Amino acid sequence: MDKSVFLEDMDAFAYRDALSSGEAIVLIPVGSLEQHGTHLPLGTDTILSRHFAEGVARRLGALVAQPIAYGYKSQQKSGGGNHLSGTTSLDGTSLIAMTRNLVKSFLKQGVRNVVFVNGHFENYQFLYEGIDLALEESGIGPGAKQSVLLLSYWDFVSQDTLAQVYPDGFPGWDIEHGGVLETSLMLHLEPARVAMDRLVDGPAAVLPRFDRLPVVPERTPATGCLSSAAGSSADKGGLLYDQVVADLALDLVGELALEPAAVPA
Ligand code: ZN
Ligand code: MN
Repeated sequence: MDKSVFLEDMDAFAYRDALSSGEAIVLIPVGSLEQHGTHLPLGTDTILSRHFAEGVARRLGALVAQPIAYGYKSQQKSGGGNHLSGTTSLDGTSLIAMTRNLVKSFLKQGVRNVVFVNGHFENYQFLYEGIDLALEESGIGPGAKQSVLLLSYWDFVSQDTLAQVYPDGFPGWDIEHGGVLETSLMLHLEPARVAMDRLVDGPAAVLPRFDRLPVVPERTPATGCLSSAAGSSADKGGLLYDQVVADLALDLVGELALEPAAVPA
């Protein structure tokens, strides 16, 4: 068996050894517990961010920490809405606090770079705020050796990949909820957790240019998906996964000035 990159599999002494160089990188996957239609599990965002973190960590010789498995409230225009049962979310203040706690702990232990690998659209600014507060409280400013990176994996999908995955045109990241991207990735990475026989092929959601609170539930399609997953395939998932992991790893090698030799071809 390959050596695990997951902290949950390591003992504390092996972890301390890994930190002793002062160069350790820890990736933290971030997801949600959120309805994803009739064909995908509630944990989809967490499952996918964990896979991306694992693939990147293997290329960099980095470690992957326990995911943040709950996310900020699902919003109607990007996740169908927080009113749908199965969607179980954190307040912004809770997600900020958790992020702040994790950053402070890992940096204090001597991790050089913490990298949040986000897989749930609504999380981003709360992660950003938690990181910012942690650095301020830890006295870490510009020029410090230690730093934190934050990214959402879909921002690494290339135009070329998009054109291949969406031959009829790309619907936009916000309504890619339970759609072709997530379904294809799950078919590639976790086929046993996808129920394609339960897939409902409906029209994409038509949403206003504003947010309204409380939400108007009828605006979310009955399936809970904002765009159809018809046209998903494991091949598309493999293309997406491999391209994103390769480009993400390459960006991190450049940004964190890692030895290119650390990246297997
Ligand atoms: Zn999702
Ligand atoms: Mn989500």
